[in-house]
Amino acid sequence: MTDFDTAHLERCVELAEEAKRRGDGPFGSVLVGADGVRLHEDSNREASDGDPTAHPEFTLAQWAAANLSPEARAAATVYTSGEHCPMCSAAHAWVGLGRVVIAASGAQLASWRQEWGLPASPVRPLSITDIAPGIEVVGPVPPFDDRMRSIHQAAAGR
Ligand code: ZN
Repeated sequence: MTDFDTAHLERCVELAEEAKRRGDGPFGSVLVGADGVRLHEDSNREASDGDPTAHPEFTLAQWAAANLSPEARAAATVYTSGEHCPMCSAAHAWVGLGRVVIAASGAQLASWRQEWGLPASPVRPLSITDIAPGIEVVGPVPPFDDRMRSIHQAAAGR
């Protein structure tokens, strides 16, 4: 973890908070090129778009496929407030993106939801490397995981 990594995770948390304020799921992600420049960012838009697949990790993969060479994709890093779901892990791998840095893991989110008496996700919370074994994953990263726990708890009204 570098200061660059910390700054990009900070932006993911901001994006997650923006999504929460809109009534969307509190998730945010940024795509960063090999030179450390932020190329694209998005947040969850499930409620705003009426599309349960409107996950930021998925739209970043689609943006990368449309705008970056295969080499640039492989050298890019995705920072995200919460670990990719299996759909997003598959998109990330199909598009050939590089490293992932996660604030909180899917396993953490699943355990928080259970603790708060919320229903389980309809999709099994498999790790990114269960879906895409070649992807380097860094995290969860304290204290960003604790901050995401608080944001999810507030979003769930718990
Ligand atoms: Zn997803």
